[in-house]
Amino acid sequence: MHVATTIAPVQDGQLTEKIHDDLATRRLAPAEHVVDTAYLSPAQIERAQRVHGITLLGPVLANKSPQAKAHSGFDKTAFAIDWGNEQAICPRGATSVSWTELHISGHIYLQARFAERDCRPCPDRARCTSSATGSRSIAVLPQALHEIQMRNRLDQQTEQWQRRYAIRAGIESTLSQNVRAHGLRRSRYRGLTRTHVQHVLTAMACNLSRLANWHDATSTRRASRFQTLCTAAGFTII
Ligand code: SF4
Repeated sequence: MHVATTIAPVQDGQLTEKIHDDLATRRLAPAEHVVDTAYLSPAQIERAQRVHGITLLGPVLANKSPQAKAHSGFDKTAFAIDWGNEQAICPRGATSVSWTELHISGHIYLQARFAERDCRPCPDRARCTSSATGSRSIAVLPQALHEIQMRNRLDQQTEQWQRRYAIRAGIESTLSQNVRAHGLRRSRYRGLTRTHVQHVLTAMACNLSRLANWHDATSTRRASRFQTLCTAAGFTII
């Protein structure tokens, strides 16, 4: 069990890279790391593979565009991207007229905007944009990350992917055990260093108690000498 301690406002996903770096330093980097959505983004999937050879497995955020949520109209997947010419081609065959870099929540996106002369008279306008007069635009991640995002979104719908991801079942109960049985949410000390020691000891206790549970469940208890003697004499001990 790897233990990382941070101050409270640090979000889960901000730790993914540090966890991988720390595990790699100890030569303990896994071939596959199965996480929930909070711990992965296309950029983190790409970095884990490139830097450490780790397959970061988990569901990426779903497409939240109005069209994708409604399962109707033209969401981003309906547009073809011509990366070489920095253009998008819409389902009606129009080509975008501008290609701009955007910075949103620390991520780089590329925004392709279509011309009003194409969108205003378009018969599919209502399926494409909610703007009364403006033209459609789409924002995509840079090519490598966009392709990871699209592939992951498709894969995570499949039964095969979901069976593979099912290996994560049970980890929430481990977290819950640490929180409820071992008081993980309350720091007994001040300062990150001491709190980290508490977390490491808690993780060790959790490992030991699980090992003991596993041992109890799998071992057949050996009879004591007294039991063996009684059994040989024809007595049964209850
Ligand atoms: S509204 Fe514009 S971008 Fe959308 S399908 Fe019509 S021409 Fe293409």
